[in-house]
Amino acid sequence: LFDEVDQAEEYAGSWDGVRGLLGGKGANLAEMTRIGVPVPPGFTVTTEGCNAYLSGGGLFPEDLWEQEEKALKSVEALTGKEFGNPENPLLVSCRSGAKFSMPGMMDTVLNIGLNDETAIGMVKLTGDERFVYDSYRRLIQMFGSVVVGIEDELFEDVLTNARIRQGVETDSELSAETWKNVIKDFKKIYRRKTGIDFPEQPLTQLKLATEAVFKSWNGKRAVDYRNAANIAHDLGTAVSIVAMVFGNMGNDSATGVAMTRNGSTGEKRIEGDYLTNAQGEDVVAGIRMTNEISQLKIEMPGAYAEFEDIASRLENHYREMQDVEFTIEKGKLWMLQTRDGKRTAQAAVRIAVDMVKEGLITKEEAVLRVTPDQVDFFMHPQFDAQAKAEAKAKGDMLAVGLNVSPGAAFGIAALDADLAEKWSKDGKDVIMVRPETRPDDVHGMLAAKGILTSRGGRTSHAALVARQFGKPAVVGVSALKIDMNRREIRVNDHIIHEGDWLSVDGTSGQVFAGKLKTTIPDIKDPWLINLLSWADQFRTLGVWTNADYPKDAKRAREYGAEGIGLCRSEHMFFEAGRLPHVLKMIMTDLPIERREALDAVLPFQREDFAGLFREMDGLPVIIRLLDPPLHEFLPNRVDLRDELADIKIKLQHAGSLKKIDELLEMFKKKENLLKRAEKLHEANPMLGMRGVRLGIIVPEITAMQVRAIFEAACMVTREGIKVRPEIMIPLAAHVNELKVQRERLEAEAQAVMQEKGLEIDYKFGTMIELPRAALTAGQIAEYAEFFSFGTNDLTQTTYGISRDDAESGFLIEYIEKGILPDNPFATIDLDGVGELMRIAVTQGRAARPGMECGICGEHGGDPASIALCHKLGLTYVSCSPFRIPIARLAAAHAAL
Ligand code: PEP
Ligand code: MG
Repeated sequence: LFDEVDQAEEYAGSWDGVRGLLGGKGANLAEMTRIGVPVPPGFTVTTEGCNAYLSGGGLFPEDLWEQEEKALKSVEALTGKEFGNPENPLLVSCRSGAKFSMPGMMDTVLNIGLNDETAIGMVKLTGDERFVYDSYRRLIQMFGSVVVGIEDELFEDVLTNARIRQGVETDSELSAETWKNVIKDFKKIYRRKTGIDFPEQPLTQLKLATEAVFKSWNGKRAVDYRNAANIAHDLGTAVSIVAMVFGNMGNDSATGVAMTRNGSTGEKRIEGDYLTNAQGEDVVAGIRMTNEISQLKIEMPGAYAEFEDIASRLENHYREMQDVEFTIEKGKLWMLQTRDGKRTAQAAVRIAVDMVKEGLITKEEAVLRVTPDQVDFFMHPQFDAQAKAEAKAKGDMLAVGLNVSPGAAFGIAALDADLAEKWSKDGKDVIMVRPETRPDDVHGMLAAKGILTSRGGRTSHAALVARQFGKPAVVGVSALKIDMNRREIRVNDHIIHEGDWLSVDGTSGQVFAGKLKTTIPDIKDPWLINLLSWADQFRTLGVWTNADYPKDAKRAREYGAEGIGLCRSEHMFFEAGRLPHVLKMIMTDLPIERREALDAVLPFQREDFAGLFREMDGLPVIIRLLDPPLHEFLPNRVDLRDELADIKIKLQHAGSLKKIDELLEMFKKKENLLKRAEKLHEANPMLGMRGVRLGIIVPEITAMQVRAIFEAACMVTREGIKVRPEIMIPLAAHVNELKVQRERLEAEAQAVMQEKGLEIDYKFGTMIELPRAALTAGQIAEYAEFFSFGTNDLTQTTYGISRDDAESGFLIEYIEKGILPDNPFATIDLDGVGELMRIAVTQGRAARPGMECGICGEHGGDPASIALCHKLGLTYVSCSPFRIPIARLAAAHAAL
């Protein structure tokens, strides 16, 4: 019985236990009864009863039905009515309710207890024949479809015919006589379909309805839902049996649903719909136009005032926004259900913050109530859910790939970077579509609204750059066949021509044909800013950013970054006007020419670094020295060969000597590039001459970078701004590499400071991104003043899985088949990579107490990985600017 919740709590041991025993609905009905909210009398058959029934081969466990009958007697006593008594009949509803809400997945039967005799009694009591026979036909219809599985269409056909015959639009206009005929027809259908009569005996109705709810736990819909929502299959459902109250007893009766706050915006205002003179399912079924709940204030001021008071009592009691169902029977308000309300990300944040201000919850609770995913939602425009559903229904969803950079983007498809840039300059929205991207595609990516590739993984170039710039991106969509000759994309039966509209959902990985409507959330949301400031009070991890350009640093600081954890210095080589010098630097064998080329690049780099120092204004700035192998800066070998073949053909048809000379000149240039590219070519460049190895073999380049850093530092210091450069050496595996490189670079740093007459507060450190470095971190710490975990490479080398190929290959199947719990390039592999990190932090700090240790791989913005970083006691996590707010919240969650 609802008023025995104290005993239930004692038996179950906790409120969570009560929910498990009585289901969410039963527990909350009991709880509302306990706090004096008007709930019709009733009782709940526990989930234990359901589980015993299901495991016992569909038999009621001993005593269960006797207990149900006994409880029914108590409800009779509480209501003064009697089940099956035509003089004063009690009617009940029978509703399912599991521990976790499974909306619409299981069964409900209303008006149990009605039969030919009690119906006559009800008419005498209410004087409303129409209402009674409408209720009776609802019972037969629901019982028929829910309990014995008759197709509902058969019943609906009868209703449609009745409306046509009586010449009315809606059911509520049908007369009592019509309802009586409908009931006769319904009973005939029941008999025809089941071979037996509709059970008139109320106790039989109740017993069968209880069983139907038990069985619905294992219905296909419910099983599928549990699989999707990760709900255990052995919980079982409870069955709540509640005395019926009627919203369809005249114009002083009504029924409705409401939320205590606005579920879209979070605004503190009751929102909902109701219908006068109607029964529960009419409101949700959408047959009649519902009224806004504010109208109820005018129509039934007394009941509304009570409703408002109860809504606020429920919120205060549960300390959560509530989603309620109610019925008003002849002016008397009854609450039929309450549960925590579903809400958008914006509403979740606003409600959490408002509830702290209202004194309902603590700041800690508010921070814990918002998920990192919800914060992510604020950072990017999203597709309208309705628009997506419509596009799917139309067959416009083309494929699903890796959702590497969230947000929604639409635009016309451009198949190369130059065209993407050109169209964007013409004012068009563009989606850049490529098999994969390379550093020299960046201008197109920047110009595009979104990025789509058919190859590549979570740490592919396209993914890194997209996240860095907050561009929605879906990569590794293997279903896309990009035909560069025909300039078109084929996906199954669809052909998308260059210039056709595409919509890319970086949040879900879905790709659509056409232009879908978007909604734009707002990062300046004052509630979000407030919530994140509380998160900052609880977290102990620093949150830094990966930023290569001053404008990224600026944005990151606006989002709350406390330092730069990674500036990939080579990205600047691709800026306009620099590539010729970079090429020259790579092509020449003459030291003097290389010197000239480096001297030309140096002022650019100095300006870049100075810009970062200015934006960060005294916060630490970690600049990583050149990492990729040199051949990455050269044109592609295959392209070069094609171009040379082209020139040869043109030479045969050249009309003038001048033209021939021009072509020969070009041929020689390209041939040289090809020779160099061939020479630098490595079968496995990821494990080749890159990082510190390149720094040692071609020391002039990293020396130039260090000079640029220190010249910039001196320049900005003279402007009166404090600078804290930290120079980071990539891909070290052995302490000696660091020793050699550091000596060379320290000398350069000292030289600059001496020239400029200034002392700069700086550090030399290294990335830990190879297993050997992690395992020998104690030795490495002798020469490194800080560590930064490059978990992209560390994952690649620990697992021996290529970061660029795996996610379009076997790794996806591994994850789908559950061979790996997570994608290790998205969430740190705790047992392998995580263990190496633990060893490195322990050894590093043993050698150099309190040493700064951070992470700058893509995992730095992933909440589960952030939790590990907190546990390992890292100094900070560094992630792309657009993930800073998420990391701030996740770091607080890890600490709480
Ligand atoms: C890493 O390896 O994790 C890293 C940050 O470096 P990159 O991604 O540039 O190789
Ligand atoms: Mg790396």
